Amino acid sequence: MTMSSDQAAPAIQRNELSEGWLNAARACPSPNFGHRPPGAPINLIVVHSISLPPGEFGGTEIEQLFTNQLDWNAHPYFEHIRGMEVSSHFLIRRDGELVQFVDTHERAWHAGASEWCGRHNCNDFSIGIELEGLEGGCFEAAQYQRLTELCQALLERHPIEHVVGHEHIAPGRKQDPGPGFDWPGFQSALGWPSRCFPKTTPPSQARPG
Ligand SMILES: [Zn+2]
Repeated sequence: MTMSSDQAAPAIQRNELSEGWLNAARACPSPNFGHRPPGAPINLIVVHSISLPPGEFGGTEIEQLFTNQLDWNAHPYFEHIRGMEVSSHFLIRRDGELVQFVDTHERAWHAGASEWCGRHNCNDFSIGIELEGLEGGCFEAAQYQRLTELCQALLERHPIEHVVGHEHIAPGRKQDPGPGFDWPGFQSALGWPSRCFPKTTPPSQARPG
């Protein structure tokens, strides 16, 4: 079941990020975070996809997972993630709603074992954004719009240099957001130079999502 919406969410205002929390986001504070290493510039955005249970949208299970309140017995799939303590800084729902779990100055637990540009442990220096969706599937226009606005707002506050997918910093281990994510369209909408993005498969070669 896919929720789509043609309702335009209010744009994120520039310089709105205060103390690492975005006014335009609904705050859902997660206990799953730590301090970043001192002096680590926050210069990477990592895009993920998540849905719980996989392929089902619109429920509260993602927020429950990120706040350690998920009932592991509520669905057979949850047995595979039982006990996980994870988080991201942001979640963008199918209708474009923005939810924030962790202060951007703090270290959220979204990337796991990872490497980008020779640096390991990407959680140390990145901001994690989850898109509600199925790995390999497509995403809603409202999500791209919100993601674009969010990246622009984050650049106002942090020296962002790259936007990548989880699959690019943990190749072989992670595959999200997958081939259904429109990197060329996102790059065009954001208007940042191509060196800010991973080398990707052209959309004509992407697997149908
Ligand atoms: Zn991921």
